[in-house]
Amino acid sequence: YAGKKTGQIFGDQLRKMLVREYKAVPINIAENTSVYDAIVTMFMEDVGSLFVVREGGQLVGVVSRKDLLKVAIGNQDTREVPVSLAMTRMPNIVTVTGDDTVYDAAKKLIEYQIDSCPVVRPLDETGRNLEVIGRFTKTTIAKVFVELGENREV
Ligand code: ADP
Repeated sequence: YAGKKTGQIFGDQLRKMLVREYKAVPINIAENTSVYDAIVTMFMEDVGSLFVVREGGQLVGVVSRKDLLKVAIGNQDTREVPVSLAMTRMPNIVTVTGDDTVYDAAKKLIEYQIDSCPVVRPLDETGRNLEVIGRFTKTTIAKVFVELGENREV
């Protein structure tokens, strides 16, 4: 630590931590899942966003609480509306990879004003089709923050 300011030490630590080591388990649903069932899944799994994937694992969408609320407060039957009509879809999804640092991932959440990012890897050589392997969220950041807070003298 010789000659380093506290802020530098903190920054160095954050840039050493990889998304791979801190990612959470993703909760995935199919495109034809109803908004109603997506809401139930959110409660059951205790998450704020769900990833919409095709058979074979390809990421096609992200659906958040507000996406579902929007449908629920409209005059639509949530059992009849598929999540594919409410989700944010590819290629507009902000993603991170396991090799990204926790710092870069956290910066993305702030920059795009979102609560979570799917952690992905390419499904083929085109690089356009992505497979979901995890979830990086504001809760992940809170956990990292607490872990770093545990490092202290005495
Ligand atoms: P909430 O709706 O619970 O506030 P977010 O702030 O994460 O959750 O979502 C806000 C909007 O951004 C929603 O329309 C959602 O579909 C979209 N969104 C969420 N995560 C992503 C992401 N990783 N990439 C692109 N859009 C996203």
